[in-house]
Amino acid sequence: MPAAKRGCTVWLTGLSGAGKSTITELLTAELGQRGKKVEVLDGDEVRENLSKGLGFSKEDRDTNIRRIGWVADRLTRNGVFVIVAAISPYRAVRDEVRQLIGDFIEVHVDCSLEVLTARDVKGLYARALAGELKNFTGVSDPYEAPLRPEVRVDSARQTVAEAVADILAVLEAEGYLKPALEGNGRARGFELEGPFQGAAPSGLPAPHGGVLTVRLAEPARAAELEAEAAGLPPIELDAWALSDLELLAVGALSPLTGFLGEADLLSVRDRIRLANGTVWSLPVILPVEAETAGRLQPGQRLALGSAGRVLAVLTVTETYAYDRAQLAARVYGTSDPAHPGVARLLAQPPWAVAGPVEVIRVPEGSFPEYRLTPTQTRAIFDELGWKTVVGFQTRNPVHRAHEYLQKVALEQVDGLLLHPLVGETKDDDIPARVRIRCYEALLQHHYPPERVVLAVFPASMRYAGPREAIFHALVRKNYGCTHFIVGRDHAGVGSYYGTYEAQEVFDQFTPQEIGIQLLKFEHSFYCRACAAMATTRTCPHNQGQRIILSGTRVRQMLRAGEALPVEFTRPDVAEILREAELDRVEVDHLQPGSGPQMRSQGQGKT
Ligand SMILES: [Zn+2]
Repeated sequence: MPAAKRGCTVWLTGLSGAGKSTITELLTAELGQRGKKVEVLDGDEVRENLSKGLGFSKEDRDTNIRRIGWVADRLTRNGVFVIVAAISPYRAVRDEVRQLIGDFIEVHVDCSLEVLTARDVKGLYARALAGELKNFTGVSDPYEAPLRPEVRVDSARQTVAEAVADILAVLEAEGYLKPALEGNGRARGFELEGPFQGAAPSGLPAPHGGVLTVRLAEPARAAELEAEAAGLPPIELDAWALSDLELLAVGALSPLTGFLGEADLLSVRDRIRLANGTVWSLPVILPVEAETAGRLQPGQRLALGSAGRVLAVLTVTETYAYDRAQLAARVYGTSDPAHPGVARLLAQPPWAVAGPVEVIRVPEGSFPEYRLTPTQTRAIFDELGWKTVVGFQTRNPVHRAHEYLQKVALEQVDGLLLHPLVGETKDDDIPARVRIRCYEALLQHHYPPERVVLAVFPASMRYAGPREAIFHALVRKNYGCTHFIVGRDHAGVGSYYGTYEAQEVFDQFTPQEIGIQLLKFEHSFYCRACAAMATTRTCPHNQGQRIILSGTRVRQMLRAGEALPVEFTRPDVAEILREAELDRVEVDHLQPGSGPQMRSQGQGKT
């Protein structure tokens, strides 16, 4: 996240005639409209002035670029957006200038020599190709294309407006620009500043990284993408990638715009931050087989799909091999293949393809009526007038212990986002459809309706304990929550994580870096002696007075037809769980090996 007062240098490199000047004109206008101070440094103009007398040897060209870079740096650090349009053929000196300036977006304005020659209004390419012009870049002088530009413009295929939209999207994603309100299907932010001051203010927190990076395309763009995707190499997504794609589409993974590249992945693995320093805890990667990776080139576009349906287009920035064992060890804190997250990761292909995605359609999922996007939850919170909202993550039915924590929080904050995870979980977790019925029953009878929003969280469960707790908190900030409940052993499994690890992991970051207030709770329970819900912080009595049941014990009781204690689970919730358990036993008995969901398709609420 760049410092607020700094500007940015947008460096356009590419052959003469590729379109740097026309892009510069439109980009200047767009940035001006957004209230930014803009300065253009045109390579030819600088040669007329600052670099008068320099020739076209490599040395002189490098000197020219260093001078441009020096000026751009001075302007950038004073909050100016500098657009440099210079052929700048040599990679090393461009990288040197990138290092100097720091806030630097490299744009490769790419165009084939054939197209340039065909377009050649001044006849320069014809003359160069005929040998009449010496030191003509791309013909009689080298051009070293950037290896990893932030933006690559294909000026033979893209319009100027598309190129500028791509550059603006990167500036938004990197936090240099606030997104245009209700713009063109790209990010829509809620933090108000500068030219957007007319819009309704909101007390809700800024999304992680500053803006909501919504990757779902508007209908017109989606139609274009769909047509394009028909001719692109397909990549089939698995359950994890599908849920990641859905989260990317709706902006839940802001500031991510796609699947992580190698630098970000290693940085996330080793220091729980993206390469730019923003806190991020889980790898969001797209694994592919080595053979597939070997065929892909940066700039190439891929059609991401599932079950014969195209969902998104990814622009490849890179492919890379990653060390699965090392990644598992760092992310999960264990290499034990019995850990479900580790097992899953070790079974993935050891190569990954990275790049931003443009989503044509969100993957179809269950509970469409509860699938609220961050844009929607934020709008609902605003409408309800909530200034503070606590998010509650769960993959379980809400027993009275959870209800207690939520209600303790509700004594302080305006609203509760009950946000159960409904992506892939372990086989023995209670199916999402059963849980949703439990939540509905609970909310109907035991919560004030105007204080709770129920929505589903379409993420897969990683069981990464502390790392996943961070992820769950940051993502809930994107949904508009100001507070987040972190219980003991949040997102844990088995006994891989220490009791308080998921709470303590946040201590290594500043509150500003996390940007959502954590409510750290002890386990709660009903105590007979207290005759109330309590925790070890409030109850002085011994274990024998406390009604505490493990998930396994609950299962056993349900299976044996025993009633769950009313102090443990509300009777209406217990009844739904009991029915579901009977269903499950019956299904298992009738159809060995089939999942518990089989029979319940279409089964109404009873
Ligand atoms: Zn007690």
